[in-house]
Amino acid sequence: MAGERITAVRLGAVIRARAAAAATEAHTSGSCGHPAAGLVSALYPAAGVWCPDCGHDAVSDLLLTYGCLMCGHPARAGLTQARAGEVDVLLRTCGCCLTADSPAPVPGSPDPT
Ligand SMILES: [Zn+2]
Ligand SMILES: [Zn+2]
Repeated sequence: MAGERITAVRLGAVIRARAAAAATEAHTSGSCGHPAAGLVSALYPAAGVWCPDCGHDAVSDLLLTYGCLMCGHPARAGLTQARAGEVDVLLRTCGCCLTADSPAPVPGSPDPT
């Protein structure tokens, strides 16, 4: 396993907006049905909400994604986890997008902090 890590940092507004959008789409798609379901992949939010057991493939897909989901630049090592409501959204990002607070293309993120 090449570093199945999840990094916790203070995330920027751009990435939090992306996570919120992914969470919304995942909720629309449903969940794996297990009590531990609470993870969403920003790569395939249409896969729904899954638990760690069901999410192995989704996590692998994320880890194998070369580029940042936001800008396509080479991503940082490991995954980024962004809390969005009741779920945690897993993303691949580069260092710039991780903390970017510049206006996101996704509207509806009024919290500037
Ligand atoms: Zn499950
Ligand atoms: Zn980026």
